[in-house]
Amino acid sequence: MRIVLLGAPGSGKGTQAKLMIEKYGVPQISTGDLLRAAVADQTSLGMQAKAAMDAGQLVSDDIVLGMIRERLSESDTDDGFILDGFPRNMAQAEALDAMLNSLGKPLQLGLLIDVDFDVLMQRLTGRRTCESCGQMYNIYSSPPKLDGQCDKCGGTLHHRSDDNEETIGSRLRVYENQTSPLISYYRNQGKLRKVQGVGEIGDIFTAVNKVLADMPSGGEAPVAEKPAAAVSSPAVKEKKESKPKTAKKKKASKKKSTKKKAKKKVSKKKTTKKKSKKKVAKKATKRKATKKKAKKKAKKKATKRKATKKKAKKKATKRKATKKKATKRKATKKKATKRKATKKKATKRKATKKKAKKKATKRKATKKKATKRKATKKKATKRKATKRKR
Ligand code: AMP
Repeated sequence: MRIVLLGAPGSGKGTQAKLMIEKYGVPQISTGDLLRAAVADQTSLGMQAKAAMDAGQLVSDDIVLGMIRERLSESDTDDGFILDGFPRNMAQAEALDAMLNSLGKPLQLGLLIDVDFDVLMQRLTGRRTCESCGQMYNIYSSPPKLDGQCDKCGGTLHHRSDDNEETIGSRLRVYENQTSPLISYYRNQGKLRKVQGVGEIGDIFTAVNKVLADMPSGGEAPVAEKPAAAVSSPAVKEKKESKPKTAKKKKASKKKSTKKKAKKKVSKKKTTKKKSKKKVAKKATKRKATKKKAKKKAKKKATKRKATKKKAKKKATKRKATKKKATKRKATKKKATKRKATKKKATKRKATKKKAKKKATKRKATKKKATKRKATKKKATKRKATKRKR
């Protein structure tokens, strides 16, 4: 089994690959996993890849192709492999074909897991992976029984750093621009098959298994994608001529029969030609209709995508406005508090001043009283002295 899993980030390639490993015993090769391991181990390759990964951009082809070449040379891939997240652009797809063809093990299938654009965003933001066993969850659609803990092994659930709204946006754009052309690439090779990636995981896996059951053993096109084999026309039984009576008659009759045969042959050729012309025309009409349908679908998808984008923008603007309002409210509150504090301070200052004034007035009155008392005393003393003199 030598297959490539195609699909946007969040389409469920990893989940299906895990089920395929269990059933078919071939390894899954995920360039995303390999790169994340390199980043975690802080290898020089990981350091080089980190910035692009954090930005949701593609890591350079050199790095990824080197990694794939090395991985495919390992013996566990002898009986096949499931490539997940690789190739991601035309150059990688062509390099992979060259690599596999030179090994005499051409790719058998490009399996597309098709999911609508707007479903992807929720899937990606809610995605959680067990750090220990790799089991995947989604907090919206398939949450674990205990928050942040793996049902299977009890391991801690991890939220990928590039599964945030901003990075997801650019990853989806990168898919649209660089990876989705690979769908046509494999279709043109007759190797493309598609399953709908929405619904129960088990049902999707059943559809995947059906496709895999039809998979050819070599690198030839899968049965459903193969053009229908030309049906050989049954031999035309010639009518036996009645026996000629004389040799001359016999000869003439033979000549006639040959002529008739030739005529029939020409007519048959003409019919076949006509038929094949009709077939070609029919095929062209069908192709045209399919193209039209695909165009319509793409247009619908684009409109939907645009609407989603518009919605997201509107949401962001609303969020911004709410934030601005909150900031303004905070600032107004702060100002009011400050004003209150200033007023309180001024009142306090006034009270202190009033108190001081009162104290001063009291002090003055006391002093005045003392002066008065002194003057009275002096007067009394003077009066006493005058009396004594007399
Ligand atoms: P994935 O886990 O497949 O979504 O990949 C995570 C990130 O790793 C991507 O957003 C890219 O930055 C990087 N990556 C994975 N596979 C490839 C590839 N084949 N080519 C370039 N970059 C890749």
